[in-house]
Amino acid sequence: MSKYALALVNIKGLGVKTFSYLIPDEMKDKIQIGQAILVPFGRQGLINAFCVGFSDYLPEEIKAKKISKILDETPLFSIDYLKLLEWVANYYCCDLVTVLNAAIPLKLIEKASKTEQLVEFITIEGATKRQMEVLQKLKESGKMPLVIFEKYAKTTRATIKKLENLGCLRLVTEEIYRNPLDILKIENTEPLSTLEGEQLSAYNGISKKIKENSSAQMLLYGVTASGKTEVYFKLIDDTIKAGKNVLFLAPEIALASQLTKRLAKKFGTKDVAIWHSSISDGERYDVWQRLYKDDIKILAGARSAVFAPLKNIGLIIIDEEHEGAYKQTSPAPRYDAKVVAQKLAEFHNCPLLLGSATPDISVYYRAVNSGNLFEMKHRYRNAPIAPVTVINMQEYSKAAYKSVISKPLQTAISETIEKGQQVILLINRRGFSTFTQCQACGHVIECPNCAIPMIWHAKDQQLKCHYCNHISYFPDFCPECGSDALKNSGTGTQKIEQYVKDLFPDNTIERIDSDILVRKGEHIRLLERFQKGDIDILVGTQMIAKGLDNPNVTLVGVISADASFNLPDFRASERGFQLLTQVAGRAGRGEFTGRVLFQTYNPDYYALASAKSQNYSEFYNTEIVAREEFDYPPFSQMIRLIISSINNFRAEKSAQEIALRMCMMIEKYGISERLEVLGPTPCVIERINGYYRFQIIIKNKLEEKGHNFISSFLNKITMPKDVKLAIDVDPLDIL
Ligand code: ADP
Ligand code: ZN
Ligand code: ZN
Repeated sequence: MSKYALALVNIKGLGVKTFSYLIPDEMKDKIQIGQAILVPFGRQGLINAFCVGFSDYLPEEIKAKKISKILDETPLFSIDYLKLLEWVANYYCCDLVTVLNAAIPLKLIEKASKTEQLVEFITIEGATKRQMEVLQKLKESGKMPLVIFEKYAKTTRATIKKLENLGCLRLVTEEIYRNPLDILKIENTEPLSTLEGEQLSAYNGISKKIKENSSAQMLLYGVTASGKTEVYFKLIDDTIKAGKNVLFLAPEIALASQLTKRLAKKFGTKDVAIWHSSISDGERYDVWQRLYKDDIKILAGARSAVFAPLKNIGLIIIDEEHEGAYKQTSPAPRYDAKVVAQKLAEFHNCPLLLGSATPDISVYYRAVNSGNLFEMKHRYRNAPIAPVTVINMQEYSKAAYKSVISKPLQTAISETIEKGQQVILLINRRGFSTFTQCQACGHVIECPNCAIPMIWHAKDQQLKCHYCNHISYFPDFCPECGSDALKNSGTGTQKIEQYVKDLFPDNTIERIDSDILVRKGEHIRLLERFQKGDIDILVGTQMIAKGLDNPNVTLVGVISADASFNLPDFRASERGFQLLTQVAGRAGRGEFTGRVLFQTYNPDYYALASAKSQNYSEFYNTEIVAREEFDYPPFSQMIRLIISSINNFRAEKSAQEIALRMCMMIEKYGISERLEVLGPTPCVIERINGYYRFQIIIKNKLEEKGHNFISSFLNKITMPKDVKLAIDVDPLDIL
């Protein structure tokens, strides 16, 4: 047995850290990884901690103090669990403590030793008159937590102690599990649906695959409302019948809650639990304990649920896998739950099933090339999807409200609201970037090296590439058609809301974008009002594209489809295609048929054309060729470094130094062909909170070897005090 234990502690002001403690002889055969322990810590006296490892040596030249107590002999996590977290730390280039911090809720450390004391009534015999009043209250209320009872009966701990000694009441310590699903009060469960047609073949294919290869990683590509959830349910049922557990991830808390309700209806509340960042600490602690005791069969949750210590996993499902919310962008660890789930599945030797109507390009690529793709191309029972019309704005750019709302869209809006039906108008642009587009032919000025749009910088009167720093001047004529109709795009949501209000002064028009998020709950309130029919036209950004299931919406208009595709990001076409396909799916979900209108200056753009026909494979086939040509994922791994400082010059200088040293190392090893360093360049969002930001982008075509090279390089550099370095492996966007 080792001499020292590594204890994970959470210190006010210091955050989560590990320290070494001497293991007293009497604990040597009891202590285990994952146990909650009590340790002395400076002036703070005894504090709660977790045992996370052992060693025979002390890293610091100090005398280690002794562990005081093992608080709970049942560990809260296993060695394998820690191994997974170590893998995450290594992959995302951060330390284990940072990952622990994200994975194990801090509150668990504090909660671990707390057991709830309850008071229970026995008799009023022998009590004084004053004491009787207290006892009477307890008799009425029944067994109650001590702290709550003290307040409720307006009494003191001393009185309760006295009553305990008199034998009038007793204090008991009990574990009560708080299950957030209990309030649903679901008594009878619904039977599973009978699968048919494409669903049945997808299900059969997936189960066959799982039988051949128990750790297969598969993709279920099924258009919206094709019945993916019903397929998941059947697979879940098979898994629990085989005595194993299921982890089911959804991209957002709201979707995870909806899903959990559906799961509870099918499988009963007892076996289902939910996990996300907003459940209460008490609930979290309880779920955690139940997970450890293998008392939960289906755990549903958002991103962070991938770190819940679910045992004996037999299947992992990730629904809407294309959603960006699976990746934590900030703070570190900047992990992607999809990547962690892949590793988790390997640890458990279990299958992983990803599902989407608009799959991530890299995921689709891997699935197609490994024979792990399953498809459902039609809606359940062939329900129709709303047809899309593309409006060529080149014809309308000189009319009234030019370049904002074309005549056909205006007419469609009038017709819809006259019928008492509702409209969604999507404005997909983020105020900070301005691309240059020809209004005669739709051509967008792009960087010749990177194939991403150049961004107009009014201050310097230049177009810049934010990947490689390529600079050019604003051309007088369109390089494609020679017209002089080149324009910088940029109309914000507020301005468009105003245009729409001017056009339809008698209707109720509301706007949802990130500005209104400042007012807490406003977003939900507006969506509820829209759902009830109190709003005729809802104007908004991508926030309105998801989840809305309002049968009275029969028109979806996209103001500038081009803006979706022209962010300076290699994934912009993919994101744009997903957004347009998903938003189109909001129209005509009820008994009325719907229609969808996309406004564009570039009607032939491949991603737009595929979104119009809602043809994913057509989009994929074009996109994958471009990815290969420019070595973008899945043909390389991207690692992004963000170097920032209050001092613009210092940030730039540090960034240059890092890039230079990295290039020299890469030269030395003769791998510059396969490990490309781009930049430094200013980030598209040049300053956040007063911090000037520069980025270095690394394209790694050496897989694990390249990754290890980069991470060991980054491990060795020390940053000056006033400059920060953030490492983002597989960044979601590069803005
Ligand atoms: P998706 O997850 O692909 O968007 P859902 O699983 O939510 O689709 O299915 C869409 C709708 O069709 C739901 O209302 C669902 O209950 C219904 N549905 C799908 N498959 C079946 C089935 N086999 N039997 C009965 N209803 C089904
Ligand atoms: Zn042109
Ligand atoms: Zn470039």
